[in-house]
Amino acid sequence: MAFFYSYVLLYCYQLFDQHFKLYQEISDKANKDFLTGLNNHGYFKELFDAEISSARENGTPVSLALLDIDDFKKYNDLYGHIQGDHLLTFFGSILEEEANSHDYIVGRYGGEEFSIVMPNTCVDDGLAFIDSLRKKVNNSYFKGVEALPYGCLSFSAGVVEWEKGMYDASEILNKADQAMYYAKAQGKNIVQVFDENSQYFAQNAINLDQELTEAEQQLKIFLSKDVYTYRHSKRVFQYAVDFSSRLDLSESEKKTLILGALIHDIGKLEIPRDIINKKGKLEPHEWEMMKKHVTWGKEIISTNKKLEPLIPLVELHHERFDGKGYPHGLQGEKIPKLARILCVCDSFDAMTTERPYQKTKTFTEAIDELRKCSGSQFDPTLVEPFIGMIEEKYANQIKEELVISS
Ligand code: GH3
Ligand code: MG
Ligand code: MG
Repeated sequence: MAFFYSYVLLYCYQLFDQHFKLYQEISDKANKDFLTGLNNHGYFKELFDAEISSARENGTPVSLALLDIDDFKKYNDLYGHIQGDHLLTFFGSILEEEANSHDYIVGRYGGEEFSIVMPNTCVDDGLAFIDSLRKKVNNSYFKGVEALPYGCLSFSAGVVEWEKGMYDASEILNKADQAMYYAKAQGKNIVQVFDENSQYFAQNAINLDQELTEAEQQLKIFLSKDVYTYRHSKRVFQYAVDFSSRLDLSESEKKTLILGALIHDIGKLEIPRDIINKKGKLEPHEWEMMKKHVTWGKEIISTNKKLEPLIPLVELHHERFDGKGYPHGLQGEKIPKLARILCVCDSFDAMTTERPYQKTKTFTEAIDELRKCSGSQFDPTLVEPFIGMIEEKYANQIKEELVISS
């Protein structure tokens, strides 16, 4: 009899086990993304809602990041969708591995977009984690990624911390999306915290969008010839966006400045490759040719009536406040205001990034240089407001530089 009961018990156990496995398979199918095995969109949102409720109850922080692979369409176009699928799986596995060690939750949000919930994590720590993930992804080789613009796998991301006043998960997701969109606009492979700049950008994106897309199309020609100028233009654009929100400019002036910043070096397309990519110091005749980019730029954009307001920016961003600049040697307020503003943004980036013929300055050194040249090269009324913007927005970078130099 005892034997019979244990047999029935075993049978029941097996039945239960089979049903449990079946149940798990079905619920996995409903909750997991078939390609990457990560939480799918719907289930991720459920988990996220639960984390927000717990943060609300316990007064603990929770942050969210949205990640979008850069130029994934290009990868698909080059190697086909199946290879693209492999890349998505590879990308997902990196995210999962890194997130697991922190008890973070990863989801495939859609297409080539992924989401990470970071419980018990404030925005600064969330930013640090996602940025280290970005570097890890950059350094993880996958077949064919060398053909992407950064020469490696990269993503752009927006990070937001849940705050008490926030209505629900959608509000946070929306903010993360705006920050991510802004990260893309700054040149990709960037992690951006949601702040007033991303909000400003999102609000103005609707009317700026089409013109920016057109200007970017023009700029993309650089990608094959001169990736330095392409990236430089993107960074100067970012400085212009940040700086313009602190200056007393009309909406139309802001728009002109931002578009002008993006396209200001377009005339460099006319300069021969061997000069533009030369590693050593330029010969005098090469330098003279280099200087012509402002005039050539003016000629290029003059062919498009819509770009007319950008002409002063393209032509005059190398004029100096003391009249010793080019191409006309204009002095002081004879130089249009927007060109004076662009000159500061452009010069700051030139100082702080690698160039073939000069030493790179740290942000702190470049700030000193701006002050030294205030009133000679630069409009003195612009120097301190620009420095104020840099010191606030890049506080972490400046802190890091000080640690390294001490
Ligand atoms: P950006 O850097 O601006 O994000 O550019 P992008 O090319 O990554 O973005 P875009 O939105 O232009 O293109 C996304 C591409 O992702 C288009 C779509 O075909 C592809 N995609 C979406 N889901 C999948 C998928 O499951 N498998 C594959 N192979 N491709 C996918
Ligand atoms: Mg996308
Ligand atoms: Mg993408």
